[in-house]
Amino acid sequence: MSSIETAQRYFHLAADVMDLSSNMRTLLLTPLREVKVQIALELDNGEIGTFIGYRIQHDKARGPMKGGLRYHPEVDAEEVLSLASLMTWKTAVVDLPYGGAKGGISVDPSKLSQGEMERITRKFVDEIHDVIGPDKDIPAPDMGTNAQVMAWINNQYEKFHGFNPACVTGKPVELHGADGREEATGRGVAIVTEAALNKLKQSVQGAKIAIQGFGNVGSFAARILHEMGATVIAVSDAFGGIQNKQGLDIPKLLEHVAATRKVEGFAGSEPISNAELLAAEVDVLIPAAIGGVLTKENAKDVRAKLIIEAANNPTMPEADEIFEDRGILVIPDILANAGGVTVSYFEWVQNQQYFSWDIERVRAELTKMMSSAFDRVWKLATEKKVSPRVAAYVLGIGRVGRATILGGI
Ligand code: NAD
Repeated sequence: MSSIETAQRYFHLAADVMDLSSNMRTLLLTPLREVKVQIALELDNGEIGTFIGYRIQHDKARGPMKGGLRYHPEVDAEEVLSLASLMTWKTAVVDLPYGGAKGGISVDPSKLSQGEMERITRKFVDEIHDVIGPDKDIPAPDMGTNAQVMAWINNQYEKFHGFNPACVTGKPVELHGADGREEATGRGVAIVTEAALNKLKQSVQGAKIAIQGFGNVGSFAARILHEMGATVIAVSDAFGGIQNKQGLDIPKLLEHVAATRKVEGFAGSEPISNAELLAAEVDVLIPAAIGGVLTKENAKDVRAKLIIEAANNPTMPEADEIFEDRGILVIPDILANAGGVTVSYFEWVQNQQYFSWDIERVRAELTKMMSSAFDRVWKLATEKKVSPRVAAYVLGIGRVGRATILGGI
């Protein structure tokens, strides 16, 4: 099943609960605009490199569109569209005044030099600058992109449109970025993990956790959950995984990864595969890498009682059904990883007002918004006797649908 089929399957499950008409379903699923561009540049070795870039704008009923930019070899139009629609429901679930979009370039960033990364990014902005902007569509980091890439986007956009820091979020703090944006998705994941554990009558303190992916989201989630008293026993990245059943020393592991770029080889740990990590004996499993990792083949092996979807689209629908049958609670991506877009929103607000918040305010507002979204979803799930995923979609689709009708078609 493709990523777009997965996203639409979840949409329809909620639309059935809402008794949504087929015309309304078609309207809400159809993207507003799909942009596909050629990005040609001279590579460091003097050869010409040609890449394809995408920006897909899904819905703007509730405000300017918002969504990350992914640099990854598997980026294609279908994946970007599915992620753009996820952004529409996600911004609505946390009640941000945004619609949804997503973009990306089909490229392996690990094979690019820093100079090539900069040139490819600037070329991409040259092609899409007229369809993005602070009141139209605001990009942000995702897999394979970071604050430096956002700084180049800001700088290139301003060459066309003048001073405009709110045109992109996830910028470095020195360049109108928000303190706390880098950690935001991981912190949001930690907040939601604690809230969900409490619903299962368990404390986060001492809870055993396995995390797949140790990039921006996975590493901050590990750090913050460790600070909250959880025991992170296994982590992995694209090169492999490690575990220590007594708990990994996360601060030391972060130093190891900063020095070696991999979790592998960390002193005081034993190697495990990504498949073993997904089946680890833990309370909480946090997929925080790529999509489609929990499948009908491996769902029966999962031993966690709670899955927090830090990555986008990590669970295939067949696996989701198995988890529901097995009583494994899944907190869906459109709620669990919404911390990033929430602090992106705070950054955009600060940029528009030329006024910076301190980190305590960012963290306090994030905690408030994530906790309130979690409570709304939980209440809806309980009232309608549906899973948190269906409840989150019902909440998001309902808000977008009402804004669409009220605005007029
Ligand atoms: P990242 O590029 O910083 O890190 C990705 C991590 O996943 C790396 O450790 C990488 O080695 C690992 N990985 C890649 N392929 C893997 C594989 N096959 N098996 C195991 N590990 C693998 O990306 P990120 O920003 O941390 O994003 C991770 C996920 O979270 C993505 O699904 C992204 O869409 C989602 N997300 C990110 C943000 C954000 O603010 N960065 C916000 C919302 C959702």
